[in-house]
Amino acid sequence: ASDSNLIRATLFPGDGIGPEIAESVKQVFKVADVPIEWEEHFVGTEIDPRTQSFLTWESLESVRQNKVGLKGPMATPIGKGHRSLNLTLRKELNLYANVRPCYSLPGYKTKYDDVDLITIRENTEGEYSGLEHQVVRGVVESLKIITRQASLRVAEYAFHYAKTHGRERVSAIHKANIMQKTDGLFLKCCREVAEKYPEITYEEVVIDNCCMMLVKNPSLFDVLVMPNLYGDIISDLCAGLIGGLGLTPSCNIGEGGIALAEAVHGSAPDIAGKNLANPTALLLSAVTMLRHLDLHDKADKIQDAVLKTIAEGKYRTGDLGGKSTTTDFTKAICDHI
Ligand code: NAD
Repeated sequence: ASDSNLIRATLFPGDGIGPEIAESVKQVFKVADVPIEWEEHFVGTEIDPRTQSFLTWESLESVRQNKVGLKGPMATPIGKGHRSLNLTLRKELNLYANVRPCYSLPGYKTKYDDVDLITIRENTEGEYSGLEHQVVRGVVESLKIITRQASLRVAEYAFHYAKTHGRERVSAIHKANIMQKTDGLFLKCCREVAEKYPEITYEEVVIDNCCMMLVKNPSLFDVLVMPNLYGDIISDLCAGLIGGLGLTPSCNIGEGGIALAEAVHGSAPDIAGKNLANPTALLLSAVTMLRHLDLHDKADKIQDAVLKTIAEGKYRTGDLGGKSTTTDFTKAICDHI
């Protein structure tokens, strides 16, 4: 029987290490007494004609109804006649923004100690519109689509995020000096939205200069918003600043207030089923989900426990140079809570 005080959230454990790290999240949530009831959905074994993918219609309906969910990595099935799992999710749920908080983990040494930024990537159009063709032999064309509607939507999300998360600055990343029409329109939309948020400082930074500034001094940035391709590259660059994809959380924002959090890494088939996976990225993704739900006290509690466990260094998984199993590392986090 479901308790009416509980918030329902969809959980896709996913493939490979997915079920192991999802189990870790479930345990940590239980110990932290998070008021979430998980509705678990697995990737199907055959193509669902309603979605043209291995993801079932019911699982997508679950996210639409609950408006919030957590997704483990999904291995891309080989073969023709179906849509990729991640593409199905993005299209069906209209996941228009990918948000990646990126902060230095105390106790896990990288070249930088003071990273604390958020990348917000437009996720539906730009260079990834899938409109490529051959004009004549030896000449191909790829169309970059930028629309006012999608640009305003992601800019609005970025400023709203900055305001509600105590952030002070939004930087729009672009190459409008060359891509005058497309990036020009993107910037125009960002400027329009910026005017509605006088308390947030707004600036525009050319992508090449942005890369140089990020590797020289990442603390120069706060919230970054950008078109699809730039976002794809910059968000991975930022993950590298703090120690790699195994530590980086993300959250996808969809139409109608949907939030689907997911770890950035894949299903790690080389270590799947061996109790070796690091659940940090999925745990911190779950934390972004809690923040989306305004459950900040629970989010802080879990985030602190994860960071403390890593900082202490007694329990670390192999990817962080330790010898702990997934279950021992998870237990150490639970003990901190
Ligand atoms: P991967 O991220 O799965 O693995 C790359 C390397 O990082 C491997 O050595 C792996 O062991 C390690 N690694 C990744 N996550 C880890 C974790 N949490 N703890 C410890 N080590 C970790 O990338 P890949 O091998 O290129 O892809 C494998 C599968 O995952 C493919 O089928 C791919 O399509 C899929 N994939 C899915 C997503 C997603 O669902 N969002 C993202 C990327 C890749």
